[in-house]
Amino acid sequence: MIDEFASRPDPEVTCANCEACCCRQEAMLFNDTEVPDDLIEINAQGEKSMARLDDGRCKALDRHTMVCTIYETRPWICREFEMGGYECLSARADNL
Ligand code: SF4
Ligand code: SF4
Repeated sequence: MIDEFASRPDPEVTCANCEACCCRQEAMLFNDTEVPDDLIEINAQGEKSMARLDDGRCKALDRHTMVCTIYETRPWICREFEMGGYECLSARADNL
């Protein structure tokens, strides 16, 4: 028997009950020209990514609201991140 609900995202998984777990991961920048310079880190190879603070989370994250302060102009990689997808579930599990 085919379970038609099997591929549906878990409704319990939402950003509202998550402490921005994915914002601990390295967010590489590619053609993201709207990210302010003071939020960007450049490694020895010249690759750009979102800077992170000592708590491991992205510098652009508001620590009080746990909301992205540059949501409208957030990097492409953040836009593509799928809530409820494999990487999301993995990030949430890592934060336990
Ligand atoms: S996308 Fe996933 S990991 Fe990121 S804040 Fe939302 S629920 Fe948490
Ligand atoms: S830019 Fe915003 S969405 Fe992307 S990692 Fe930073 S805080 Fe999270």
